[in-house]
Amino acid sequence: MNTLPESKPEPRYRDRLFIDGEWVEPAAGGRLPVVNPATERVFHEVAAATAEDVDRAVAAARAAFATWGTTTGAERAVYLRAMAAEVRARRDELAYMEVLDNGKPLPEAQWDIDDVAGCFDYYADLAEELDERQNERLELGADGFRGSVCYEPVGVAGLIVPWNYPMLMAAWKVAPALAAGATCVLKPSEYTPLTALEYGAVAEAAGLPPGVLNVLTGTGPEAGAPLADHPGVDKLAFTGSVPTGIKVMHAAAQHVKAVSLELGGKSPFIVFEDADVEKAVEWIMFGIFWNQGEVCSATSRLLVHEDIAPRVLERLREAAREIKVGDGQEAGTLLGPLVSETQYQRVLGYIDIGLAEGATLLTGGRRPTGLDQGYFLEPTVFVDVHREMRIWREEIFGPVLAVMTFGDEAEALALANDSDFGLAAAVMSADLERCERVSRALRAGIVWINCSQPTFTQAPWGGFKLSGIGRELGRWGLQNYLEVKQITRYESGRAWGWYLK
Ligand code: NAD
Repeated sequence: MNTLPESKPEPRYRDRLFIDGEWVEPAAGGRLPVVNPATERVFHEVAAATAEDVDRAVAAARAAFATWGTTTGAERAVYLRAMAAEVRARRDELAYMEVLDNGKPLPEAQWDIDDVAGCFDYYADLAEELDERQNERLELGADGFRGSVCYEPVGVAGLIVPWNYPMLMAAWKVAPALAAGATCVLKPSEYTPLTALEYGAVAEAAGLPPGVLNVLTGTGPEAGAPLADHPGVDKLAFTGSVPTGIKVMHAAAQHVKAVSLELGGKSPFIVFEDADVEKAVEWIMFGIFWNQGEVCSATSRLLVHEDIAPRVLERLREAAREIKVGDGQEAGTLLGPLVSETQYQRVLGYIDIGLAEGATLLTGGRRPTGLDQGYFLEPTVFVDVHREMRIWREEIFGPVLAVMTFGDEAEALALANDSDFGLAAAVMSADLERCERVSRALRAGIVWINCSQPTFTQAPWGGFKLSGIGRELGRWGLQNYLEVKQITRYESGRAWGWYLK
């Protein structure tokens, strides 16, 4: 288990934009407050980029692409590994910033930063492998022709990320984009801009050429929309909500830009009657309370077999009440505040909706006693839930679990798949054959067996249906930033002989 760093690092909070290797003031001079969600206090201000800054950043990325786009994977891998090393060296400082900005418990933030460094190292390896895959010979099945395939970087990538894993969601895009030879303009969420700016500092420390990575803090409408709309951007990679994803896709369509979307979810967790109660409760809680439930793949719908339900729910109520809610900086905290006032009100609104719809609170649903400041909420579990209820169908994005029971496998699957989303799903049973069968039948891009949430850089990440388009991570993540080119050579000495006989 991680512990708090013995002496708190003193982070330097940046307040400028990072464009073309320089820290610059935003053209319109605007500022945005940075709020600590555990105290509700504004502790910093960052620059608010507007369309003019987007123009500058895209121009810098375009200019840098002329050189960066021609480097080999092996050359780029050197920079990626240097970035990984720099992140690792500053791990506790970056994790602390994430706690102040997002609210998550420090050990979770440290885990995020470790994953960021691991992601850069992983894509360094893939950049090198890419060199080996270049000019792959193609069997064309025709005499006189020789075919080959090569992979070229897509150009300038616009990367728009949310607030739940600020530095990590950016890593999932920046690392493969750089590995592929693309140049980037990164736009973090206005709620959590701090660690995104640190990518600028990390790039400087790694000696990344100016313009290869640019960072613009700003709001969605003022900075995100002009980036999505910009004709100089070749590829858009977006993680966030469905309504914004639709806007981004619409903007991409105007210029026929490549687009990948990682959107929301309402993922089911099916627990069969032969599951071990202790293990089930542990993973159910990890699936919905980790990171305050602000996880796109959170298993926020529990489907538990009616025979085991009384025991699972009794243990779940008891264990959820033991979770320490508090400031993410405090040792032992397992549930921090929600990220913002807006998100807090949204989640509280869903608790009212659930009660009005006739669901019953098994536990939670209120601000914990003694925590009068900060966006804190008790771990919350709803029972007496019906499949038409909004708390069962809509993404809440908070520590709120909705529970239904089922009688057999077919019913469980029908309930699990009855969703507009298809990001993730989990199944727990002692019968592995059943787990495999159910995994195949679940309409989701990610299926966990006998666990929920563990995520690996090597494995594809993304969803079916409203949960998005495309996959990040693994080799699929690299492909997002590559164009495929075929080169076909006519090598026969014979004349073609169609017009000229
Ligand atoms: P959001 O859609 O409000 O914002 C995401 C990003 O888009 C932010 O940077 C925001 O500033 C920007 N943005 C807003 N309006 C824009 C516009 N018109 N054009 C371009 N950019 C714009 O989402 P959020 O509240 O930050 O994040 C929560 C959502 O993200 C949840 O729905 C969650 O499920 C989803 N999410 C998905 C994944 C995944 O991998 N599938 C991962 C994390 C979060």
